[in-house]
Amino acid sequence: MAKKIGILGGMSPESTVAYYLHITHTYTQRYGDFGYPEILIYSVSFQPYADWPGQGRWDLIAHGLSEAAKKLEAAGADFILIATNTMHLVYDAVQSSVRVPVLSLLDVVAEAIQAQGSRSVGLLGTRMTMESSLYSKALQSRGIEVLTPDQAGRDYIDHVIYSELVAGQIRPQSRQGVLEIINQLAGQGAQGIILGCTELPLLIHADDTPLPLFDTTSLHAEAALQFALQD
Ligand code: GLU
Repeated sequence: MAKKIGILGGMSPESTVAYYLHITHTYTQRYGDFGYPEILIYSVSFQPYADWPGQGRWDLIAHGLSEAAKKLEAAGADFILIATNTMHLVYDAVQSSVRVPVLSLLDVVAEAIQAQGSRSVGLLGTRMTMESSLYSKALQSRGIEVLTPDQAGRDYIDHVIYSELVAGQIRPQSRQGVLEIINQLAGQGAQGIILGCTELPLLIHADDTPLPLFDTTSLHAEAALQFALQD
């Protein structure tokens, strides 16, 4: 019997859907039937979670997501995913609020980069993700350097995420803008790029750039599928 997956989602709905479809479609492509694991989704109301980081209210974020995680656990989730990079800033608080494991996106992505062999990677994500130690903590211990865009690049990507991608708007012009930033990071020595926001894979695809991409949404959803099917 597969483990029941709990997804802490809605941050944004665009990527929550991508998790759901990755897990169910991949299962069916791989095993040829519809026996995918059961999935519970707790979709928060996103606005406060978009506002609180800028106000420094990580206490409210930690409390809100911990309460949501408890509801997933009470509803029968055997493990939980926080389906956003940024909100891993409160990973410890969420994990300590439940008995079931919370499968860390950062661990999954760090393992994938290590396995692929890049020694230096560019990081794209929200301002909070790029300007915090979220990824450097996870990667420096593995000897992998993290490069982030300059201030203008960080502002641009944060704007694209919160003004367009979380609302499901995919604009070719923004794709071009992000690809220019990827080129700058390649010029600084990045051997791969972390799409470190769960909406970025909606905009940037493998055939847009020669650099290897680490699609955090697919990697995290894939790890969840495998963990759910493990004995
Ligand atoms: N989904 C985004 C991420 O992966 C950003 C939305 C948010 O959680 O604020 O970081």
